[in-house]
Amino acid sequence: MQGSLRKMTVSLCDQSGVLYSLPLNGNKERAVPINELIGKPITITATGKINCVSCGADTKKSYHQGYCGECAASLPECDSCRVSPEKCHYSQGTCRDPKWGEEECLTPHFVYISFTSGYKVGITRGKNVPSRWLDQGALVATPIFEVRERLLSGVVEDAFREHVSDRTNWRTMLLSDAAPSDEEFKAHVAQLMALMKPAIDKLQLQYGADAIKLTPIDPVRPDYPIGERPMQKLSGTHNFDKQPELSGVLHGVKGQYLYVGQSVVNIRKFAGYEVNLSF
Ligand SMILES: [Zn+2]
Repeated sequence: MQGSLRKMTVSLCDQSGVLYSLPLNGNKERAVPINELIGKPITITATGKINCVSCGADTKKSYHQGYCGECAASLPECDSCRVSPEKCHYSQGTCRDPKWGEEECLTPHFVYISFTSGYKVGITRGKNVPSRWLDQGALVATPIFEVRERLLSGVVEDAFREHVSDRTNWRTMLLSDAAPSDEEFKAHVAQLMALMKPAIDKLQLQYGADAIKLTPIDPVRPDYPIGERPMQKLSGTHNFDKQPELSGVLHGVKGQYLYVGQSVVNIRKFAGYEVNLSF
């Protein structure tokens, strides 16, 4: 099958089982159900062609995980406020596309605590729960606040960063599934919330209690489809720019990574790359 890679779509089935499907844009079969391929040999070969995931133009280099240079410089989804939501500048009238901003950013968001390689804080749009957690390889996750808009989620997240990381160590995430129990997780979240109470009270005074609302703590525990994991350590991830072919048994999937043979590949990073997939 040939097509242009897209980030895998994820869903939870029966509350915890993670189902993956790999869209191959331009292929009439469209999406490959990845869970069914686990334990089987697969080969992914990059043809060398990259097409922008937004405008479709040929591009030599991919920016922001799949965009051409022109789109990267002009689309709101490639703006710096996408990685730093506390820098949302819609209210200053400088949003790259105000209509897009209204739909994407001026809508309710969640602040969450998850455990990936360790505890982390993050934010997501309401409609992206739980896929955001699954994309990051979270072993446990719960929302903690529902906020009025993206900017506020960034402000709350920024406050939490004093006590908890917003990053994941991808090696640890890929090599270990050791997670705290629900009791340990809830206790840790409660401890963080207590630490943060003065800062949150202040933000609620500033923005209004309705703008930053506590949510029930309700941990979700995704169960990633991973068979055997043959590697004890990881030096790097597969890079289709350097090595067009990746071949081996598909051992499993976690986050947006496939475990293939002795290697791992971050599918999201190669969005827009045209590949041949055989299995
Ligand atoms: Zn483009």
